[in-house]
Amino acid sequence: METRLQRAAHLLDVPHLVVFTGAGMSKDSGLDTFRDADGVWSRNAPEDYASPEGFRRNPRAVWRWYLERREQILAAEPNAGHKAVAALEQLLPRVTVITQNIDGLHQRAGSRRVLELHGSVHRYKCSKNCRGVSTLTPTPELDQTEPLPCPYCGALTRPDVVWFGELLPVEVWKAAVREILACEAVLVIGTSGQVEPAASLVWYARGRGKSLVEINPAPTLINDIAEVVLPGTAAEMTPALLAALAALHAAD
Ligand code: NAD
Ligand code: ZN
Repeated sequence: METRLQRAAHLLDVPHLVVFTGAGMSKDSGLDTFRDADGVWSRNAPEDYASPEGFRRNPRAVWRWYLERREQILAAEPNAGHKAVAALEQLLPRVTVITQNIDGLHQRAGSRRVLELHGSVHRYKCSKNCRGVSTLTPTPELDQTEPLPCPYCGALTRPDVVWFGELLPVEVWKAAVREILACEAVLVIGTSGQVEPAASLVWYARGRGKSLVEINPAPTLINDIAEVVLPGTAAEMTPALLAALAALHAAD
């Protein structure tokens, strides 16, 4: 009898796979998720640290909060799950990662095609968006405990991440939709499926008949539409899935 892992491997053995990830992907690297009971929002109010209003009220506090998160992220390492996602590129012709994470751990693990829907803690931008999408790369000088002025207009700089009430970066969103439409299967890892519009990509995919496999240790909104749910963490289940896919190829 086919095991759940083997069935998942069959479904994902396609020319073009999308891997859609959320905060749970990086939990095994020691980075907290947002919405779980022990998550970031159990300690900090999202409206204070992740909204344009919060930044206007207290730019210094928000800047420092992100500096601290960035330091945690730089001290963290990609886990076995990120590495297995990167290794999928050795087995399948085209793999695109669409992530809600802002930590850059997929790229550090070696994934080559990564779309960051919610930006990155590793970049800053002008809080007035004076140059459209102008992005400032962090430098030792920018990494001060005070937000520095934008070199173009003098407004404060801020992390290049998407806050509550803000639009997703439009080119990244369009690219993500293109990938979802063009792929044959989606592997969802470590997302609660509650953050829109990101989560709707998974429903688009399913509505268009793409195969759907989910890895998550807890129930999610996506469980009901996934064809196979692998209940476990990213660091244990993703390598197991990779091994099942490799075994499938070896048997061919
Ligand atoms: P979420 O906090 O809403 O949900 C996290 C999900 O991860 C839950 O379903 C939980 O069951 C699952 N999970 C917990 N431990 C796991 C593990 N070890 N392996 C696999 N799954 C596990 O997160 P979300 O759905 O990604 O929505 C979150 C928003 O949070 C995004 O906008 C993202 O930008 C932001 N965020 C990013 C990071 C990061 O970059 N590392 C961290 C926290 C939050
Ligand atoms: Zn500016």
